[in-house]
Amino acid sequence: MQEVEQVHSAWRELVDTARRTVAEGLVVGTSGNVSVRVGDTVLVTPTGVPYDRLGPDDLCAVDLDGRRTAGDLRPTSELPMHLAVYRHTDARAVVHTHAVHATAASTLVSELPAIHYMAAALGGPVRVAPYATYGSDELAHNMITALDGRSACLLQNHGTVAYGNDLDQAYDRTAQLEWMCHVWLTASSLPGREPTLIPPAELARVAEKLSGYGQPSPE
Ligand code: 13P
Ligand code: ZN
Repeated sequence: MQEVEQVHSAWRELVDTARRTVAEGLVVGTSGNVSVRVGDTVLVTPTGVPYDRLGPDDLCAVDLDGRRTAGDLRPTSELPMHLAVYRHTDARAVVHTHAVHATAASTLVSELPAIHYMAAALGGPVRVAPYATYGSDELAHNMITALDGRSACLLQNHGTVAYGNDLDQAYDRTAQLEWMCHVWLTASSLPGREPTLIPPAELARVAEKLSGYGQPSPE
């Protein structure tokens, strides 16, 4: 596929993913944002535009320094976070949400306790990036520190960030993180009871095992 075609098909997938965050309750209204990388071009959701209004002509693209390369709409206010992920990792897609349980958990701890083995799928216990104003370079910096060795983190009093090899993987990691926060909040809400946790050695074992999870790839 030519790069122009690739960009247009990536834009369609990006819009579908952004709509999915609303449809599946991970954000309300125009909260959250999504990006995908094609070569050195980063497609991002525009700031403050409801995702159901986005069509093929609303494509919003920047280069890795954040300079707009296509489209008339202003890019997401969280561009510093998205670009920081692409500069520091091999990510091809990034999803940011204000998912309810993840946001609630982010106000209670500095690291999500290892309540479930699926923490291993995100690189280990998920850290919480200290609070900073939305859209700020400080928030991007705190997020990158929290992401060290992980593919997802929480943003204190704000939400989630997850990245992946493609939009589906970044979305699935977000949904897994939100689910894990839900489990932890549910288990830790019983008065006088503390949930059991998965020890680090077991998480490391699971990480190893998960690398062979699923169906073998075709020869
Ligand atoms: P944008 O509409 O600018 O993407 O902002 C939403 C958001 O979640 C900011 O943190
Ligand atoms: Zn946000």
